[in-house]
Amino acid sequence: MLSPSLEDYLEEIYNLDQKKEKIRIRDIATKLGVSPPSVVKALKKLHDESYIIYQKYKKIKLTEKGKKMGKSLVNRNDILQEFLIIIDSRCDPEKEAEAMEHYLSPSTVKTFENLSAFLKDNKDILEKFKKYNKSD
Ligand code: CA
Repeated sequence: MLSPSLEDYLEEIYNLDQKKEKIRIRDIATKLGVSPPSVVKALKKLHDESYIIYQKYKKIKLTEKGKKMGKSLVNRNDILQEFLIIIDSRCDPEKEAEAMEHYLSPSTVKTFENLSAFLKDNKDILEKFKKYNKSD
């Protein structure tokens, strides 16, 4: 199991890799608002757990295990953002998904995903709910 902060590092590395960008310590530090030494510490841990290959002065690479995990972390974030938007929660979906993601069980995330799909398939119920949600 990865800690919440290592999950965020891996998610960011995966995003950079998907964009075909070079994975640089400085970029990760800026994106996550941490110091470069903190990034190096995290990279070493991710290397020790075989999510990435990290050697000093060499390109940082994701392993197959890292890619699989990175993909599922990005997917989880997408599911939560979509859910927050669909239920009209009037929050900053990006920030809130970021806050929630590490603390929900896979089964809850799956249930949110199903609920989003259900509400999209049943627009009448979704509209009813949105009205209900507006009246306070
Ligand atoms: Ca995240």
